[in-house]
Amino acid sequence: MKAAYKPNRNKGIEIREIPVPEISSNEILIKVKAGAVCGSDIHLYNWSDWCENVDAKNPMVIGHEFCGEVVAVGEQVSSIKKGDLIAAETHIPCGECRLCKTGKQHICQDMKIVGVHTDGAFAEYAKIPEVCAWKLPEGTPPEIGAVYEPFGIAVHGVLKDKIAGFSTVIIGAGPIGLFAANVASVSGASQVFVVDLSEYRLNLASKMGDNIVTLNPTQDDVVKIIKEKTGGFGADVVIELSGSVSGTKTGLEVLRKGGRVSLIGLHSQEVPLDLVNNVIYKEATIYGITGREMFDSWYLADSLIQSGKLNIRDILTHEFSLDETEKAILTAKGGKAGKVIIKI
Ligand SMILES: [Zn+2]
Ligand SMILES: [Zn+2]
Repeated sequence: MKAAYKPNRNKGIEIREIPVPEISSNEILIKVKAGAVCGSDIHLYNWSDWCENVDAKNPMVIGHEFCGEVVAVGEQVSSIKKGDLIAAETHIPCGECRLCKTGKQHICQDMKIVGVHTDGAFAEYAKIPEVCAWKLPEGTPPEIGAVYEPFGIAVHGVLKDKIAGFSTVIIGAGPIGLFAANVASVSGASQVFVVDLSEYRLNLASKMGDNIVTLNPTQDDVVKIIKEKTGGFGADVVIELSGSVSGTKTGLEVLRKGGRVSLIGLHSQEVPLDLVNNVIYKEATIYGITGREMFDSWYLADSLIQSGKLNIRDILTHEFSLDETEKAILTAKGGKAGKVIIKI
């Protein structure tokens, strides 16, 4: 089969012919229909420090956000059958540790990630364990199926706690930030402020609901404007997706007393914060968010997507073929893109 292959730790990937994966008794084989490019694919492409930090596999097939049709199942597989259309949960739980046994599989102590620790899905075929398969409703378009996984992160962060009637600030308007703005707006947030440095992304954000206010820190006094528009209190909810020190500081600063923050963006360094004024005196609630709750986030993501109330299509700005995977990754890296899709 054809696959986007990372042969070594140097920069780059190549399209290569490799054997179709062989499945074991608890796995399923999928004919991939569409994939989506994630920030971690860019890390793998560049082989950044992050790859060593998470002990990424090498060599490997990259890609983890995908959907496709099941073409074979192992003999122990019972819930999935040939012909099913599935999206993949990329966190592979061990099923045996304390976290797995107590409903926290997505933060399993011994977790592996598809396309990071195992061969990924920018290929004609991919395999995953049965437990990671999410059956999609018939007729789900492949490019929509491919973004359930990142969409689920936005769902996890935004719907972690109350949102209806609450003013909400989204820091960072990359694809997950755009999903988050859309989820917050559709779920009844009173006002949704989206903060980003890129006018391209803010323009996409403005399509995510009828109550979106876009703010660019290079020209707007973000803290002042949000305070003014929230009666001087600050925002009820902050969703931090920038992974930047200044974005995180701004997020905590605009939070009202008693508000809550979901921290999702990954920082590449330690973050100095004014905990006394912005967390302790505020009695702020801080949630660390990683991946999707298995499978609460998936049920919510599925019903939101299938409701037809979202503007997901506006976020899928580019589409490439498997042969053009490198171009797809570089387009995502360039920043003038929402979610980049690879059709296979
Ligand atoms: Zn991802
Ligand atoms: Zn586990």
